[in-house]
Amino acid sequence: MQEVEAIATVPTGLFINGQWQPTAQTMAVEDPSTGQVLCEVADANAQDASDALDAAAAAQPEWATTAPRERSEILSRAYRFIVEDTERLALIMTLEMGKPLSEARGEVAYAAEFFRWFAEEAVRIDGGYMTAPAGDSRFLVARQPVGPSILITPWNFPMAMGTRKIGPALAAGCTTVIKPASQAPLSTLALVEILQRAGMPAGVVNVITTSRSDDVMRPLILDPRSRKLSFTGSTAVGKHLLGLAAQTVMRTSMELGGNAPFLVFEDADLDAAVDGAMQAKMRNIGQACTAANRILVQRPIAAEFSERLAHRMGALAMGRGVDDGVSVGPLINKAAVQKVRQLVTDAIDKGATVRIGANPDDRPGNFYPATVLTGVPDDAELCSTEIFGPVAAVSEFDTEDEAIRIANDTPYGLVSYAYTQDLARGFRVSEALEAGMVGLNRGVISNPAAPFGGVKESGLGREGGFTGIDEFLETKYVGVSF
Ligand code: NAP
Repeated sequence: MQEVEAIATVPTGLFINGQWQPTAQTMAVEDPSTGQVLCEVADANAQDASDALDAAAAAQPEWATTAPRERSEILSRAYRFIVEDTERLALIMTLEMGKPLSEARGEVAYAAEFFRWFAEEAVRIDGGYMTAPAGDSRFLVARQPVGPSILITPWNFPMAMGTRKIGPALAAGCTTVIKPASQAPLSTLALVEILQRAGMPAGVVNVITTSRSDDVMRPLILDPRSRKLSFTGSTAVGKHLLGLAAQTVMRTSMELGGNAPFLVFEDADLDAAVDGAMQAKMRNIGQACTAANRILVQRPIAAEFSERLAHRMGALAMGRGVDDGVSVGPLINKAAVQKVRQLVTDAIDKGATVRIGANPDDRPGNFYPATVLTGVPDDAELCSTEIFGPVAAVSEFDTEDEAIRIANDTPYGLVSYAYTQDLARGFRVSEALEAGMVGLNRGVISNPAAPFGGVKESGLGREGGFTGIDEFLETKYVGVSF
């Protein structure tokens, strides 16, 4: 399918109460590899958002009592439709946010799997029955949908972050208003059109695209009919939204930023560690919350590791994600390039050595080359800031205790990686790392069947796995005398 043809298939209105609706104002969606406008989409105002919540609130009672099997079957159908439509969806994703087409295909598969997983979970919502300790009554424990849920997603995984929230919300019996990022809304719009074809009733999923996130979403979050806020994005915005949610004591799930340490011990399988570092660093051109931000290598193997990493990074082709053989696509916008450029300059000024990269050329689009820095000092800004770009920052350590101390010396705690062939060390280090997830001899750990989420300032709650649906369920206890 051609680029223009693929974009033309995406609905560009708001989706409210089962209808696609245009808005008076529109906003442009750009291809970050060229800066060219792909299309215009609806630019909602606060009234549009309120209409979306009206629809979600009106649909809630019926959706909550829709048979779990029926909810499950809608998700299953949507899963199949996504898989069958992989090529079109991957092309749309690459065009709107730049990741290489092969990675976009991977994200489409990953996104679809959340619908498959939660289709299976929809029919397994459990409860409980027990005798009170005094024997005089019985406890019934039921799980009920939380209610209308606000879902806010980022641009970096524009489809999977949507299905990771829509899947459990629908499975649990919650209706939703979803707001994708203004920089990459097309994957969500295409996804919702698929849900519509899969038989999702009107009002169950509503979509708001807007260039004024705060003005439009603030009233929705403060509206007492909204019972749940599930957010994926930066820690700064997450903190702001938690403040709003506190005003109605709303349930929240927060999937926020990271600053992943990637530890390589001297007893590691070096080939596996380099492979893992490439995956953990370069997935999504380094623009992942799970990206290896600080690569820490034990001194005896540091030179060899850096050599091999620089060789692999240097061989990556940069270009438009739609072109064959490209691994390094553009960053999302000019500000992202500027930020990466500034972080690299700061590290060099403080003593880091450039092994490859660090010299962006003047081509159009938001490109920054794959870069490897070694000898990165602790006080370099990129050690405490999410780099969100294709820059591998390598430093050295001597002892296991030192590695753990440096790894945990961050307010974030999403994921940590460790490479070692010593089983005892692997367990010790996994337990000591302050992170919601640990990749032990693995550079990619995201999986719809596993609980994804962080500790510390990386978030609250878990998505995916057996606990993912809990985020959209309330527990109700009924005391019974007879
Ligand atoms: P972001 O700027 O925080 O934006 C995330 C979403 O929030 C977007 O839809 C954005 O819309 C919206 N938003 C921004 N300000 C808002 C406000 N005041 N009220 C309501 N909505 C608001 O993050 P991003 O740049 O898109 O994504 C990158 C960040 O997400 C990184 O920090 C990354 O680590 C994190 N992330 C975390 C996970 C995880 O699972 N833990 C996964 C992926 C990404 P607009 O952009 O249109 O304003």
